[in-house]
Amino acid sequence: MGLAETGARLQHVDLLRVRMPLVTPFRTAKSWTSTKEALLVHVVTADGIEGWGECSAQAEPTYLAETVDTARIVLRDHLVPRVLAGRSLDEVRGNTAARAAVECALLDAFLRADGRSLAAWLGGTSATVPAGVALGIAESPDALRQRAASYAAQGYGRIKLKIAPGHDVDGVRAVRAEVGDDVALQVDANGSYAPDDAAKLAALDDLGVQCIEQPLPADEVRAHALLARELATPICLDESITSAAVAADAIDAGACSVVSVKAARVGGLQEARRIHDRCRDAGVPVVAGGMLETGIGRAALVAMASMPNFTIPGDVAASDHYFVDDVTEPFVVEDGRLRVPTGPGLGVVVRDPVVARFTVARERIRP
Ligand code: MG
Repeated sequence: MGLAETGARLQHVDLLRVRMPLVTPFRTAKSWTSTKEALLVHVVTADGIEGWGECSAQAEPTYLAETVDTARIVLRDHLVPRVLAGRSLDEVRGNTAARAAVECALLDAFLRADGRSLAAWLGGTSATVPAGVALGIAESPDALRQRAASYAAQGYGRIKLKIAPGHDVDGVRAVRAEVGDDVALQVDANGSYAPDDAAKLAALDDLGVQCIEQPLPADEVRAHALLARELATPICLDESITSAAVAADAIDAGACSVVSVKAARVGGLQEARRIHDRCRDAGVPVVAGGMLETGIGRAALVAMASMPNFTIPGDVAASDHYFVDDVTEPFVVEDGRLRVPTGPGLGVVVRDPVVARFTVARERIRP
């Protein structure tokens, strides 16, 4: 049985909007988030097998063009009806986070019925993945230094710092001086620099930064290729990479030497795997990108990161970096790594009372 057959055998699909306070507000070049808003997709098959997926669209369209509200409408009116009819999700254009969420819920149910883990189905080969944390823009270089020190002490071997014009080299330098050379540092600009900012970004070259993520706006693929010639620091593309085909073109153009993979940005785990494979064939490492996931999305993220070409540590942090109470058992860092779930499907148990406590709206869709 495949995913389409699983969809055609569902009893119902629930869309649950959850609102969870973040332990620490998260600031990027484009956004400020203090509360995690997500849409959880819960499917139940005719045999009573459940599947969960998380839609990583945010409350505001500052990273993806989708929001929690647009995703809910597209899921309710377009994606879920197709799933229930056994039709392909590829009939719907764009709306990648909504598609990724329902694909994940179907995969979870399908693999639970089949007794296989998501990591195994994806071709994952690692039992654990390195922990990495992304730190938002801080009030000062010293505040950033202190936060980085606490994560280094918890065993995180990779720290990614959000940067923006005016919040860049000084903070990175302070963190490098604090954590030394044993911690891998990456930076992420979320497209906030301009093509003529090359000299500013070249100041990062002396700080041993593993890669600079998305320095220029998403559509500037050619400008990234020109910038790559000016910088010693490798460029990683995130927002620019919307599919495996785009990833292959960006690599051919010399625009990046690392690719960030997020199921929500590319329409699901199947496309994420295609990007992983295309990059592997081109000799380009991939990095797992995070979206402040709850335990449901985190289980999918960790499974994805267990594939062999994820050789650069990604945004794979423990649950307590985000939430006091999570909707699954928490993911924890042990010896600098997170364990990849081995149980069927996502391999995590969803805590219904916690989900209920954070749910602010729900709707059920039946065949
Ligand atoms: Mg990014």
